[in-house]
Amino acid sequence: VDTSTRAGRFAPSPSGDLHLGNLRTALLAWLFARSTGRRFLVRVEDLDRVRRGAEERQLADLAALGLDWDGEVVRQSTRLELYDTAITRLQHAGLTYECFCTRKEIQQAASAPHAPEGAYPGTCRNLTDAERAERRASGRPPALRLRAGTDKFTVEDELHGRYTGMVDDLVLRRGDQIPAYNLAVVVDDAAQGIDQVVRGDDLLLSAPRQAYLASLLGLPAPTYAHVPLALNTDGKRLAKRDGAVTLADQTRLGRSPADVLTALARSLGLADKGETVTLAQLLDRWDPKILPTRPWIFDG
Ligand code: GLU
Repeated sequence: VDTSTRAGRFAPSPSGDLHLGNLRTALLAWLFARSTGRRFLVRVEDLDRVRRGAEERQLADLAALGLDWDGEVVRQSTRLELYDTAITRLQHAGLTYECFCTRKEIQQAASAPHAPEGAYPGTCRNLTDAERAERRASGRPPALRLRAGTDKFTVEDELHGRYTGMVDDLVLRRGDQIPAYNLAVVVDDAAQGIDQVVRGDDLLLSAPRQAYLASLLGLPAPTYAHVPLALNTDGKRLAKRDGAVTLADQTRLGRSPADVLTALARSLGLADKGETVTLAQLLDRWDPKILPTRPWIFDG
């Protein structure tokens, strides 16, 4: 690997405004990348759930906080050929099968005794030709799944150490023909030279699947840092109803982007009460070892 192309990234889905927890993750991804001399890339994951205007606001919020990125913003919607090529390679290697299951069928099969929790139960893995023809005739376009050769895989995480998690026959292309999230992320991270993935720890569970998929495609797995999420005072994931959770909300309360950056820094133990900090100062003070592993409780 050419070290000049090493990169970290922030990869938001343009499904709404970034809240302070997302901005904190973006800040952490930026700090992890910049403090290690990596490029920092922004990738918009716009294969589905796109909300009009959300991307523009998300990028404007990052810029307002001073989080700069290298090169052009990359959009997944422009990269469909790349995902198709990867899927075709897996198909030619005999590592895929069509899946006709509905969500409900999967739930029912997965709740059977001894079914591994959260894993696809393998209903369509070994259909006979006749069964497949029958399901095709029913008209539902099938999803394409990976024929996984293992049920677990280990990744290295800067915060969680060696983490071994479940791998199943994950979806590569959905029934609506949209490339699945796991496939797109793996293909893009490798194609963009991303060797450091910093993101919310709700995605730690997905990392073994993604690293396994990378290995099947002959791609290097990145190192991971799954950082704690922001929660509300009920311990639930931060959401719109939790008050002034976006940069725009904060602006309406008279708080500048510098104030918000300072609040995020304080939540990371990087600023003292009463001081206002800049990104340059944060980069100076940054030490991944002092990162709290508990969630950040946002109380307004
Ligand atoms: N686009 C995903 C999200 O916003 C993040 C994907 C990733 O970081 O791998 O939740």
